[in-house]
Amino acid sequence: MIQASETLRELAATFACLRTEPAPDVLPPEESVTRAREKLQQHLPESGLGLEETTKHLQEAIIPGLNASSRSPNYYGFVTGGSTPAASLADNIVTAYDQNVGVHLPKETVATNLEDRALVLLCELLKLDPAQWPHRTFTTGATASNMLGVACGREYVIAEASAVRSDATNSVGELGIYEAMHRAGIDKIQILTSVPHSSLSKAAGILGLGRASIRSIGLEGASHKIDIAQLKKLLEQPGTASVVAISASEVNTGAFATSSLQEMLEIRKLCDMYGAWIHVDGAFGIMGRILTLPTHSTIINSCAGLELADSITGDGHKLLNVPYDCGFFLSRHREIAARVFQNPGAPYLSTDATDTIMSPLNIGLENSRRFRALPVYASLTAYGSNGYRGMLERQIELARAIAEFMLESEDFELLPKFEGSKEEALNNIYIIVLFRAKDDSLNKELTNRVKASRKIYVSGTAWEGQPACRFAVSNWMTDAKRDLPIIKQALINVVKGWKKSKEEIGIVHS
Ligand SMILES: *Cc1c(COP(=O)(O)O)cnc(C)c1O
Repeated sequence: MIQASETLRELAATFACLRTEPAPDVLPPEESVTRAREKLQQHLPESGLGLEETTKHLQEAIIPGLNASSRSPNYYGFVTGGSTPAASLADNIVTAYDQNVGVHLPKETVATNLEDRALVLLCELLKLDPAQWPHRTFTTGATASNMLGVACGREYVIAEASAVRSDATNSVGELGIYEAMHRAGIDKIQILTSVPHSSLSKAAGILGLGRASIRSIGLEGASHKIDIAQLKKLLEQPGTASVVAISASEVNTGAFATSSLQEMLEIRKLCDMYGAWIHVDGAFGIMGRILTLPTHSTIINSCAGLELADSITGDGHKLLNVPYDCGFFLSRHREIAARVFQNPGAPYLSTDATDTIMSPLNIGLENSRRFRALPVYASLTAYGSNGYRGMLERQIELARAIAEFMLESEDFELLPKFEGSKEEALNNIYIIVLFRAKDDSLNKELTNRVKASRKIYVSGTAWEGQPACRFAVSNWMTDAKRDLPIIKQALINVVKGWKKSKEEIGIVHS
């Protein structure tokens, strides 16, 4: 039989130590991945291997084939945060206790109070007044949070359209989308946005609005920025309800859709006029609100006014540096929460109606839920606002140092092309650095050659129809002094290796 507590403690200790030892290389050797794949159990064992043998199997056969991105500060693919020591510790406790945080049961466990407190601390970190954001919950990530945002927006804009015609509230949650729209007298719901994350289209698809409901309203020549004139024109269309999605730092360039409080005030005013819902996708951009330095003023201004939105998406497993899978969702509309997400007709799940904490199962997607609040709570408690600000400042410092290297390099080029001074160009940089090789033939192979170095990891993407590479700096261990030389050396070696291979096949003659 399973020996519960001792074994759990040992396992927690084993895996906690695995997480804090920095990995020598950013990826395991490819042979290790292949070997691990070959050693996977081919069939369900009839009598299990037992805990001891299984631990050995995991340690010796499986772990060498894992890409432990959070253990290496030089992993710059996606926006992969690591896991802070406090968050890692708490995550082991989550597994050991296996709380189900679906129903608010304040006499039985502190879990739901802690979850709500973690969300309040998070609001404080992000300079959002918790009293203004009463619908708050943890999700599995920013994709799920965007789903909640679009679902709440859909509910709200139909109710707003109904209010114009009658005093009835036509709820999609109750009536379904077709009947609610019909009664509200609208025949179209559009999502107006600029450079949206792919997960916004996914949300629109799942929620019955359709991926085709996404309309890009980026400015010409600066597609990441909302074109306010176009916004007004589209909001005005009769019979149409709108959700406006603000990309607060988009994944390719890190650019923000708005650049001042003034712009957000204008967007808010227009949306109020036409009953539209504003959703902010701030998966990692929302953390820009914790910055204070004058050299970060471009980012600070881009985050100003995001508190005017109706809902906000944030990711925990990105810049908060808690383990996968953790996102958060905030909305200013508590009544919408229950209209969309109530889990009705299960009286055994109800709790005291006078308590201000709502059962998570009535305000989000899942019924049974992991206690993903605990790592966030532990990490915010351990490091506080200064600790998180310090982490983000170190991440921006490295991103800007990489960008500076690109600006000065003969072989690489910083994207998007920027017409101002070097200082201005660098002040635009948040934690993302998009770049390409100047030579087209190297550029085609660039991402794969960088990955093959196994010293640093970058993502491949496309920019203006050409391949491009992207650094996303997001690990709490980031340290420009230590990491920049590793990055430069890896990139220099990539260029050297490419030149050498060209000479070998006789293409470069000089
Ligand atoms: C990463 C990201 C998402 C999706 O987040 P997941 O955590 O992968 O679900 C959505 N929007 C933006 C802007 C992102 O950067």
